[in-house]
Amino acid sequence: MAELNTVILSDSARGLRAAAGLLRAGELVAFPTETVYGLGANARDDRAVARIFTAKGRPVFNPLIVHVPDAAMALELAEFSPAAEALAKRFWPGPLTLVLPRRPDTGLSGLATAGLDTVALRVPAHPLAHRLLEEFGGPLAAPSANPSGGVSPTTRAHVLDGLDGAIAAVLDGGACPVGLESTIVGFDRDTAVLLRPGGLPVEEIAALLGRPVDTLTTRHVTAPGQLQSHYAPRATLRLDAVGAASDEIWLGFGPVASLRPGLNLSERGDLVEAAANLFAHLRAADALAAEAGLSRIAVAPVPDSGLGLGINDRLRRAAAPRF
Ligand code: AMP
Ligand code: MG
Repeated sequence: MAELNTVILSDSARGLRAAAGLLRAGELVAFPTETVYGLGANARDDRAVARIFTAKGRPVFNPLIVHVPDAAMALELAEFSPAAEALAKRFWPGPLTLVLPRRPDTGLSGLATAGLDTVALRVPAHPLAHRLLEEFGGPLAAPSANPSGGVSPTTRAHVLDGLDGAIAAVLDGGACPVGLESTIVGFDRDTAVLLRPGGLPVEEIAALLGRPVDTLTTRHVTAPGQLQSHYAPRATLRLDAVGAASDEIWLGFGPVASLRPGLNLSERGDLVEAAANLFAHLRAADALAAEAGLSRIAVAPVPDSGLGLGINDRLRRAAAPRF
């Protein structure tokens, strides 16, 4: 595949016009969202969507999240149950993805939905993502802008680390404020099912619906592509560590200090701060390990509630055996 000259576009009106023009021409443009950087393609263009899978090395049975500028466009693409509508009203724009029955004749690429009769939809809250979607004027398929299986990007530099030369452009919007991918919710009849914990705490969803949200393990609903090994740095991870051994880099949470070199997700034990730091710190810990000739990162325990549910999901996948 010919190397592209990946251009960096600024958040100016000109940068946005250029980004939208490239998307219309079927090219790939990475853009910031409040969760992580997305790798955008015109969701109605099969060839453009196919390029996402090539650039990322992503398995094609793994469907993509379709990003839209507002709920009105989402309503044209999918059928909303009363519960889905309530969630969209309360949490969009924001880090919530809804998996809903796809309407016929939406023109969406079958690759974006992996041939399923459902579609995953999200209205992102990042101002630049929103302006890009408005300027483009249609749905954008956008997974995280990194090679498949690796650590998600939360800065322009992370995007270029993995995809420089493989995509047309990256729209620079600084660091992503939430830092964790969206929470994905599907439905089994009218019961909400958590398909992936993420940037919107599931407790907030349960509070709005007035009942607990089911999890995948208690339901038959499947989320294709929730691969066990994912978000993986080069070094291996040891989770729930109380400290780092002499051959490990330390990734802390809370005030516990370690004499070993390392980083802390949040010294004050703040899950919002830890989520925002997670992927950048995994990359930095990986670089420290490589510099020191070490191959392991010891990670402190993180509480399993609120954003901690999403953080622990990502850490477990990053630590999973790789095949
Ligand atoms: P991402 O890799 O962040 O783009 O997230 C995409 C994930 O959303 C996939 O790996 C699936 O787990 C989930 N997803 C997308 N579309 C669907 C769908 N139609 N049904 C169930 N899960 C979906
Ligand atoms: Mg990803």
